[in-house]
Amino acid sequence: MGKLSKEAFAVMAMCEKTKENFGITVDSRRGHYAFCWGFKIKEGQGKREGYDKKSVHGAISFDSDFNGCPYCGSKQFYICSRCGKVVCYHGQESVTCPNCGASSTLKAAESVDLSGGGF
Ligand SMILES: [Zn+2]
Ligand SMILES: [Zn+2]
Repeated sequence: MGKLSKEAFAVMAMCEKTKENFGITVDSRRGHYAFCWGFKIKEGQGKREGYDKKSVHGAISFDSDFNGCPYCGSKQFYICSRCGKVVCYHGQESVTCPNCGASSTLKAAESVDLSGGGF
């Protein structure tokens, strides 16, 4: 993991493929958020840590050593427009949030590109 600022926090996210909860360490960088590290955590433990009270919205980037979803390895994510959950993403046009069940069609502006690109 790279250096984190004092603004760093963690959010709860969910894996679309396995429907498992996990945490992502997020750092705040001058008006946008950088995803730094994904880690497995039980939902109850994340709640005790207060991770579920945090959410991210707005511009997101990825640290170069960001490991992605700890379950499926995806390094793309979207944020559910209904519940605000961060969900890993696999390039499909329409998505169903594993947390609240909302279906949405991702527009280019809403999907997040890996900085640097390519797999
Ligand atoms: Zn995943
Ligand atoms: Zn949702």
